[in-house]
Amino acid sequence: MSATRLLLLGPPGAGKGTQAQLLVERLGVPQISTGDMLRAAVAAGSEVGKLAQGSMDRGELVPDEVVIGVARERLGQPDAKDGFILDGFPRTRAQAEALDELLAQLGTPLERCVSLVVDDDEVVGRLIKRAEIEGRADDNEETIRNRMRVYREQTEPLAAYYGERSLLRDVEAKGSIEDVAGRVRGALA
Ligand code: ADP
Repeated sequence: MSATRLLLLGPPGAGKGTQAQLLVERLGVPQISTGDMLRAAVAAGSEVGKLAQGSMDRGELVPDEVVIGVARERLGQPDAKDGFILDGFPRTRAQAEALDELLAQLGTPLERCVSLVVDDDEVVGRLIKRAEIEGRADDNEETIRNRMRVYREQTEPLAAYYGERSLLRDVEAKGSIEDVAGRVRGALA
C-alpha cells in the first residue's frame, strides 16, 4: 500500500514537479503546485495574481495569507479527497500549521513528507539550464540565488517539523529521473 496524501519538499530545481507528475500517473491523485497556480493567476491577471506577481519576480515568497487561501480552495475540491501531491506548499512554518489545521478539518491528514535532498551547486546548474529551455521569468541567476536562500532559511526547517511528526523520508535526488522515482516509491511504501 502506498501513501496518497503526500508532500514533496526540496529546493528549487530538486525535481519536485517531475516526480509529482510521475506520482500523479501512478497514484491517480492530483498534483497541487502553488507555483503553477500562482503563475496561472498572474497570467489571468486575477486579484491573487496581482498580489503575487512582485514577490514571484524577485524570487521572494508570496505572503502566507495569499498562498494559504489558494491552497485551501484547491484542497477543498472533490478530486483531492482520496489524496494529493503537494508540491511547493507549505514553504513556511505558518503555512505548515495552516495546512495541518485545514487537513484536520477535512479529515485527511498528511501521510508522508518526502524530502528531495540535493546540493546547491547541482540545483543552480539545473535551474540555469531550465532557464535556457523554458524562459521562465524567475529563472535568471540572481533570482535563482534568492530562491535558494529563501528555501534554506524558511522552507528547509520544515523537514524538522515533519520529522518530529514521524512523516519525513529523505530521498537522494541525484541520478536519473527513474532512479529518483524508484527511491520515492520506496519512501511511500
Ligand atoms: P521553484 O520551487 O522552482 O522556485 P515554484 O514554481 O514552486 O518554483 O514557485 C515559484 C514562485 O512562486 C516562488 O519563488 C514564490 O514566489 C511563489 N510561491 C510558490 N509557492 C509558494 C508558497 N507556498 N509560499 C510562498 N510563495 C510561493
